[in-house]
Amino acid sequence: KIDVNAVTKTFTVDGKTLTAASDLSFTVPAGTTHALVGESGSGKTTAVRLLLGLEQPDSGTISVGGEQVTGRSPEALRSAWRHLQLVYQNPFTSLDPTWTVEQLVREPLDRFKVGAREERDERVREASADVGLGEHLLSRKPGALSGGQRQRVAIARSLVLKPDVIVLDEPTSALDVSVQAGIIEVLLTLQANLGLTYVFVSHDLALVRQLAHTVSVMHRGRIVEHGTVAEIFDNPQQPYTRSLLESIP
Ligand code: ATP
Repeated sequence: KIDVNAVTKTFTVDGKTLTAASDLSFTVPAGTTHALVGESGSGKTTAVRLLLGLEQPDSGTISVGGEQVTGRSPEALRSAWRHLQLVYQNPFTSLDPTWTVEQLVREPLDRFKVGAREERDERVREASADVGLGEHLLSRKPGALSGGQRQRVAIARSLVLKPDVIVLDEPTSALDVSVQAGIIEVLLTLQANLGLTYVFVSHDLALVRQLAHTVSVMHRGRIVEHGTVAEIFDNPQQPYTRSLLESIP
């Protein structure tokens, strides 16, 4: 479960104060997906960085799985990160091109010193299979993989740590539409089998509809409307939400 409680974050640039996140509050029950949607600059990335503890808020608190993310030192956050993983937007730049798939999927286990050798081998096999990466791909390097396969590697790198929460920051926006469907399918299957909780940042409302249970609509650093997928898409209350929905091609 994720609890975001009255979180505000301002940045001062050239003497001017900019509120990137203003009084954000939302709760994500375990095993569900919460989408953050909004235009560029609405504060989605700031919200993600706050969730991961990469930025500290000016006020408010965030907890993930009962552990506080706010007000902790970077060292103390390392233990939270085993439970809270991030999948980046672009698998073309986020994977070291000189490593094999096997090395890439294993690396987080080495970094967090998880288990003995046999357990690491087993976790690498399991996570790769769970995202649909065949064994014949494990010896390849990212340059010899398709975009969809690379994003599966990125997801497997999170999965080996057996996290409770995965933050998906535009996880399919760098991929072809036909490839996106496969990734969404993998994410849905993983959630059904493992009970994962997702925070899904996206400006693609069609994907939000497929993956999310609840949605926060962000505009100028604020959550202007919050509700279930059905409430937001079928019965939006705020003019801004309506205009955002109408902007879908
Ligand atoms: P995008 O989809 O383009 O990434 P976003 O919705 O994720 O947009 P943010 O990146 O969170 O939006 O930015 C929200 C506002 O906060 C923007 O006006 C941005 O310029 C500002 N901002 C974000 N990070 C910083 C920073 N480190 N220093 C100064 N201003 C920042």
